[in-house]
Amino acid sequence: MNILTKIQKRVSDRPAELAKLRHQGKTVVGWSGYNLPEELIYALGLVPVRIGAGGNEKLVELGQRYVSSHNCVYIRELLGYIAENKDPLIQQIDAYAFDATCLQTFRAAELVEYYFNKDVFILGVPRNFYWTEAQDYFVKETEYFVSLLEAKYGVKLEDQKLKEAISLYNKIREKILELYTIQIESAEVSWMDVYGIIQAGYTLDKAEYLDLLEQAVEEAKGYAKEEDSDAPRIFLSGSILPPGDSKLINIITKLGGRIVGDDLWSGILPYLDLDIKEATAGGVALGYLNRTPHGALPYLELESDRRIKKLKELLRLSRANGVVYHTLRYCDPYSFKSLETKHILVDEGIQFLEIHTEYASSDTEAIHTRIEAFLEMIENNVLTKEVV
Ligand code: SF4
Repeated sequence: MNILTKIQKRVSDRPAELAKLRHQGKTVVGWSGYNLPEELIYALGLVPVRIGAGGNEKLVELGQRYVSSHNCVYIRELLGYIAENKDPLIQQIDAYAFDATCLQTFRAAELVEYYFNKDVFILGVPRNFYWTEAQDYFVKETEYFVSLLEAKYGVKLEDQKLKEAISLYNKIREKILELYTIQIESAEVSWMDVYGIIQAGYTLDKAEYLDLLEQAVEEAKGYAKEEDSDAPRIFLSGSILPPGDSKLINIITKLGGRIVGDDLWSGILPYLDLDIKEATAGGVALGYLNRTPHGALPYLELESDRRIKKLKELLRLSRANGVVYHTLRYCDPYSFKSLETKHILVDEGIQFLEIHTEYASSDTEAIHTRIEAFLEMIENNVLTKEVV
């Protein structure tokens, strides 16, 4: 897509813009998590930047000086990324906010506060989203989170500002979904384009980001629909694939697989089904809580598991032939859910492959071989069905 060059340029300009904003007295809050309502940070007049990095072995090694090597590789790299403090974006972060959806993120928050002398704000997240008590707890936690930011930075959550922020973020979510839906059938808009655009939004100014998204959707609508193609249609699920972690994506596409969808928390999932019924901190909190739950939250009844329900819905939407389920080393939440997810999908006739990996390049060849065999299996299966 032509718009990508413009978006990438704006992302590379962003650290200098943040420096200017800080010079004018603004505070930049780097956040990580799944249930952290970014629009609250925005409505408070602070500058939210979603952080996350992957695929860099050296940063993982550096991170291991601060956290056990038995923590997930994503968290190890995140700590290395903050410790190194060389990325122009990370240099502009004044404070960090983490939610406790995954306990490893919570651990990262504690260590950032302890080692790097930064203000850190933590949003508590209940383990079971379905109880009224849990919803009350999350509303109170969110109100408390806002009050901490208000007290620290002398700001106030005003009703009008919050309404405007919710409206802006809702429009952003709508456009992201529109773009994601177009790529499913498009010959010229790839899932990778959309994934890149989603991740560009981590850092860009939100009003400008909405404008860029609108331009992207207009451009995407102008492209032709895909002719029937033989390429196996692959859906990505499992652990996070943050900016910089492109090993698996590159292998799949190089071997001729066409990625058509995902349910990753670094991808489309956080933007789906967010219905904010009341423009208050509590109302926003409940909107976040009622989305598809993150895989790190325990839920034992598979028949009513909303994570599985959403996965099946996205698989139908994307008409995927197979799921590549990506698990990162020591990412227990998604590794533990791999087998149950496999059983459910295989029962529904969907091919499933788990790829367990980390940020080292030593397993590239092995992954290449497994993906190649998986794509061949899908092609043969599709062919057999057509002959029958
Ligand atoms: S969900 Fe997995 S990858 Fe993400 S922070 Fe938790 S353990 Fe790490």
